[in-house]
Amino acid sequence: MNAFEYLTATAVEPALAAVNSDAAPARFIAGGTNLIDLMKENVMRPQRLVDISSLPLDGIEPTARGGLLLGSLARNADTAYHPLVRERYPLLAAAILAGASPQLRNMATNGGNLLQRTRCYYFYDVGVPCNKREPGSGCPAIGGVNRLHAILGASDQCIATHPSDMCVALAALEAVVHVQSAAGSRAIRFADVHRLPGDKPQIDTHIAADDLITGIELPPEGFAAHSAYLKLRDRASYAFALVSVAAALELDGGIIRKARVALGGVAHKPWRDPAAEALLEGREATAESFARCADALLRDAKGQGDNNFKIPLAHRAIVRALEMATSGDLTNTGQLQ
Ligand code: SF4
Repeated sequence: MNAFEYLTATAVEPALAAVNSDAAPARFIAGGTNLIDLMKENVMRPQRLVDISSLPLDGIEPTARGGLLLGSLARNADTAYHPLVRERYPLLAAAILAGASPQLRNMATNGGNLLQRTRCYYFYDVGVPCNKREPGSGCPAIGGVNRLHAILGASDQCIATHPSDMCVALAALEAVVHVQSAAGSRAIRFADVHRLPGDKPQIDTHIAADDLITGIELPPEGFAAHSAYLKLRDRASYAFALVSVAAALELDGGIIRKARVALGGVAHKPWRDPAAEALLEGREATAESFARCADALLRDAKGQGDNNFKIPLAHRAIVRALEMATSGDLTNTGQLQ
């Protein structure tokens, strides 16, 4: 681990100034559940850490628009167990509780969850090349060990996946992320937060290092009656998704009026395809309809060798998650109790 300067900020403006005050690469830190690991492994080497844990951004409050604003510094556990999240956005609660461990969820913040980096094994091993860590050095996962890697949206530069469960639910719920920087405030649709690797795999998101995430806004519609988070992984807890599915339906009798399906563990960002979702709308909520949606979602899927199994696994998971959402069976793990 390299030497670094450590500052604490108690207000937003000084925090922004501290990351912009000179040319030294600086990072905000809050829960630190991913950044500290990356620093220990010398994958990331900020010269200054600005601790924002004391900023007043940890509230969870209803919005004037009828939604809910999740403070960026609210802990993942506090968010998942908040009464309004459980009642109105159980899909989000289930996804958060499917991730990491209780200890990590007690430390990790909502803003940090969005910015966590891939768990590609090569990315964490500074003894091997990696285009995400050192642009232009190569991608040993292509043709290498790639069981956890992407089947959608990959490039010839990087086939990494985004590791978050929470983000998969936020994609399905069409959350909006509020960001503040020295240039002012802006709101980013969740679909535009994370990016595909393309020829710049070193850039994970459209949120810069000197952007401070202030909150995550949930729209009024939470699909509380018919949503489900299905996570498939190598062991029952504390493992990243091989495939996960956040499914949300609005039903009128047996007819689907609105459908959202987001996939995790399969791409560099939570994966949605509005055209595939549109195939469900106006249709009966049946296994046949769900299979057509899965066909469309996975039509461009491409295995990398070790992860070829993810394509049929994802197909079955999409159908199963939509069946669970239809029946109101929230999660396969029974964790939301
Ligand atoms: Fe690096 Fe991406 Fe290749 Fe993994 S998949 S080794 S993160 S370039």
